Amino acid sequence: MSLEQKRILVTPIPGPTSTKMQERRKEVIAAGVGTLLPIFIDEAHGAIMKDVDGNQLIDMGSGIGVVTIGHTNQRVVEAVQNQVAKLTHTLFTVAPYEPYVRVGELLVKHAPGNFKKKAAFFNSGAEAVENAVKIARKATGRTEIAVFDHAYHGRTNLTMSMNFKMHPYGTGFGPLAGSVHHAPMSYPFRDSEGMTGEEAATRAITYLEKRVGATQLAAVFIEPIQGEGGFIVPAPGFLRTLGSWCRANGIVMVADEVQSGIARTGKWFACEWEEGFEPDLITVAKGIAGGMPLSGVVGRAEIMDASHAGGLGGTFGGSPTATAAGVAVLEQLEEGGWLERALEIEALLYSRLNDLKSSHPVIGDVRGKGAMVAIELVEPGTKKPNPPAVEALVKHCHENGVLILNAGTYNNVIRFLPPLAITDELLTDALDVLAAGLAKLA
Ligand SMILES: *Cc1c(COP(=O)(O)O)cnc(C)c1O
Repeated sequence: MSLEQKRILVTPIPGPTSTKMQERRKEVIAAGVGTLLPIFIDEAHGAIMKDVDGNQLIDMGSGIGVVTIGHTNQRVVEAVQNQVAKLTHTLFTVAPYEPYVRVGELLVKHAPGNFKKKAAFFNSGAEAVENAVKIARKATGRTEIAVFDHAYHGRTNLTMSMNFKMHPYGTGFGPLAGSVHHAPMSYPFRDSEGMTGEEAATRAITYLEKRVGATQLAAVFIEPIQGEGGFIVPAPGFLRTLGSWCRANGIVMVADEVQSGIARTGKWFACEWEEGFEPDLITVAKGIAGGMPLSGVVGRAEIMDASHAGGLGGTFGGSPTATAAGVAVLEQLEEGGWLERALEIEALLYSRLNDLKSSHPVIGDVRGKGAMVAIELVEPGTKKPNPPAVEALVKHCHENGVLILNAGTYNNVIRFLPPLAITDELLTDALDVLAAGLAKLA
C-alpha cells in the first residue's frame, strides 16, 4: 500500500462521485450520524486520503486521533492480514489467545506509575470509560463520579452524562445517568489572569467537597489535555494537586487518555507531562490500534483486580485482529522515533501558528502538546468566541484539500492532530492553505 504523499485536487470538493454516494447515503443512513466533510474516501496511506473522485487530501485529523501511526501503516496491515487468516474470534472470556496478553504486556510496561499494573480490553473509548467507572466503584465501594467542565467521554448513556456539552451529545436522549458531578476545569485562556493550576484545583476540590463529599467519590475522571473541549491544557500544578487530593481521600484518579494517549503528545501518555501526577487508571482507545477498534483500561493492579471474574468483558472486546494491530502499533512506538516526531510536529505547528497569531488577531490562543495543537478563534481584540471564523476557515481548508477538524465548547477551536507519519512538506502545505484562508477572512 502506498500513495504519493501529495495534495492533489482533480475535481471540486465534494466531487461528482462523492455527491452521488452522498445521495445514496441519505436514503438509508440515519440522519443522526452526521458528517463533517461529505466526501467518500476510497484509500489512504501515511497522511494522505484519496477520495472516490481521485482527490488527495491532507489528513490533519487522523480520523480524530486514531491513525496516529499513519494510514495503512505497513506493519499494522500485515499484522491484521496474518491474524485474520488465522483466527478472528473465540471471545477472550471463553478461550484466550496470545495477542490480547501481548498488548496487555506492552500497555502495562509503558503506562506511567511505579507500581504493579494490569489491563483489560474493550472496543470503544466510551466502553473503556464505562468500565473504568465500574472498576473504580467496585474497588472503592463508592458510587459518585466527578468529571470536569469542557470534558468529553463518549456517547453511551453513562458517558454522555459525563460530557460537559449537552448539545449535540445528549439533547433529547435523556434521562441521563445520575451520580455524575461536573467540577470547574482549569482553562488558562479563559480563567482570570494569573490563576495558577493549584488555585484552579482548589476551586474544583472545594466544589466537590461541598457538593458531593470526598468520602462519597469513587473516581475523578479527567482528560490531561481535553480533546473535544478544544485541546484545553490545564495550568501546571492542576493535575498534580487534584491527584494528591484523590490519593489522600481514597478516590480513584482516572486519566481519560482516549484522545491524548499513545504517543500523540510526544510522550506515551499526556499525563506524563505533569510532574508528580500519577493517575491510578488510564483509559485508552483511538490511537492504540492504527484504526482497528480497540480500547482498554490500564492501571493499579489492586484496583483492576477488585472486580470479580465475569464482571468485565464483552463479545468483541480485544478481538484477535484488533489486539494484533495494537501489538504492531505499540511495538513500533517502542522501537522509537515516534515521540520525537510528535515534538518536531509541535515545533513546526507552533512556529507557524504563532506567526499567524501575531498577524491575525482572530487567533486568540495557540496551545497543545506534540501533534495535538489547536488555535482558539475570537473576535479580534476580545476573548469573545468566533465560531463563524472557524466555520469559514474549515470550509476554506476542505475546499482546498486539507481536512481539518473543529472543536471546543464554544465551537471556536480548530484542532490539528495529524498522523505522526506526516512529512514536513505536507504539514507546511496544509499550513499554507490555512494561512491563505486566514488572509481571506481578514
Ligand atoms: C473519543 C473520546 C472518547 C470516546 O471514544 P469512542 O471510541 O468514540 O467511544 C472518550 N474520551 C475521550 C477523551 C475521547 O476523545
